[in-house]
Amino acid sequence: MAQNKVDVLLVGAGVMSATLGSLLAQLDPSLKIAMVERLSKVAQESTHSLNNAGTGHAGYCELNYTPQQSDGSVRIERALEINGAFEMSLQYWSYLVEQGVLPAPEGFINPICHQSFVWGEADVEFLRKRYAALRRHHLFEEMEYSEDHAVLRRWMPLVMKHRDASQAVAATRVQHGTDVDFGFLTRKLVQSLKKHPAFDLELCHTVVGMKQRDDGRWQVRVKDNRTDQTATIDAGFVFLGAGGGALPLLQKSGIPEARGYGGFPVSGQWLICKNPDVVKRHCSKVYGKAAVGAPPMSVPHLDARIIDGEQALIFGPFASITTKFLKQGSALDLFASLKSSNLGPMLAVARDNPDLARYLISEAFQSHKERVATLRNFYTEAREEDWELASAGQRVQIIKGSEEEGGKLEFGTEIVTARDGTLAALLGASPGASTSVQAMIEVIERCFGPQMKTAGWRRKMKMMIPSYGESLDENVALLHEVRRRALATLRLGGSGRPG
Ligand SMILES: Cc1cc2nc3c(=O)[nH]c(=O)nc-3n(C[C@H](O)[C@H](O)[C@H](O)COP(=O)(O)OP(=O)(O)OC[C@H]3O[C@@H](n4cnc5c(N)ncnc54)[C@H](O)[C@@H]3O)c2cc1C
Repeated sequence: MAQNKVDVLLVGAGVMSATLGSLLAQLDPSLKIAMVERLSKVAQESTHSLNNAGTGHAGYCELNYTPQQSDGSVRIERALEINGAFEMSLQYWSYLVEQGVLPAPEGFINPICHQSFVWGEADVEFLRKRYAALRRHHLFEEMEYSEDHAVLRRWMPLVMKHRDASQAVAATRVQHGTDVDFGFLTRKLVQSLKKHPAFDLELCHTVVGMKQRDDGRWQVRVKDNRTDQTATIDAGFVFLGAGGGALPLLQKSGIPEARGYGGFPVSGQWLICKNPDVVKRHCSKVYGKAAVGAPPMSVPHLDARIIDGEQALIFGPFASITTKFLKQGSALDLFASLKSSNLGPMLAVARDNPDLARYLISEAFQSHKERVATLRNFYTEAREEDWELASAGQRVQIIKGSEEEGGKLEFGTEIVTARDGTLAALLGASPGASTSVQAMIEVIERCFGPQMKTAGWRRKMKMMIPSYGESLDENVALLHEVRRRALATLRLGGSGRPG
């Protein structure tokens, strides 16, 4: 190991660790930072371009962020929150592009129109209400809505081709939606960190254990996967940004805050289009409604992507059953995570979610023909031979103890921190990479509280993220200002506000 004593140890080389490392190095370039990754390259798990959908989640098209209530009304709070969080990512990436830390934005972020699409009277009614609720808010002021087949044919020609003219359909669109290549972004963030003399990246090294000393510092045991030799890193602060591997490490840390957490892994699969003529006919992200019993992140979508500068088209995700916590993990992961403190919540979740179990089983055993039939809800002319199945990343959903139900399955992300601020872990995976900047700022606020209160760090935060400390949800003028800058710097929508 190049450094045995560090201020900050980042476990995992995905978008979360890379973002935290980048923010901390900006705030205090003298910090000694090490990043340890078990695989031989950076960003090979969920952050890899083809392991996630690359949607810059901003609440524009994802219908699961605006659930319908039993009285028919539509709640928009989560969409507002996610939109505000994504604006923080856009501001930080803009700053890094302006500083020359990140390369030309086209390499990692591209404007791709975000659309929601539904059919059938009930879902049309839902989308109409969703639009009415969102459109009133300045964060969503550019959203458009239509039920007119002719308009929708212009918005999404592939989806509307040969569609029954009598079918009730509706769509919304936001033209400055984005596609983000999180794999590319992460590689560039890590490359820029490598330019700091106080940064060290150790690939092919797995964190296998950790213990806190009486003085609060962590002794982290790291195994070199090529030689099986172990070494110890002495770290003042540890971030468990290990994706699906964060829960087992959190359990190993032994901090009381880890008690009761369990994980429920869900793997995903995509249909990837192999026919270039079809790929070039679809230029937006079209999100539909999730099937009954489906976990919220299994909303089907037909997605135009830009990966390594090339246009791609994917449909999915199809969920599946797995016991692995990482795509390149072990089938024993789930069983190894069972502890006396989380067994109750895990069993309660198994008991209370029969629809989810039924859904996962039915998804897992679908044939190619059946998957293409689902795709035909979005693209009526889809041919089986144009699409092939590929594995996406793993998500480990959080299971938590709950007084009423005994255990609860959560679909968001959660930051767990030690009371003394020397360790933090990120659990869960939604909305994920898009909100990495806000999530990592939360880690810094919780674990670097005294430094964050200094004038120097506060000034730097404002420089990097002008809306830091303010609410874009409430401040219209500030939203317009930061959005105009981000859209121009990241070349997402011309030089002014779209629309
Ligand atoms: C199917 C799917 C679709 C998604 N779509 C989107 C989307 O459209 N938009 C979006 O914003 N987000 C999306 N996400 C979520 C997003 O991909 C994740 O939130 C994000 O990539 C997580 O980053 P991470 O750094 O926490 O984890 P990861 O990228 O998984 O990185 C964790 C790293 O830690 C390493 N590691 C694990 N254990 C150890 C150990 N013991 N020692 C050393 N290293 C270790 C792993 O090898 C890995 O490289 C999607 C996820 C999935 C699965």
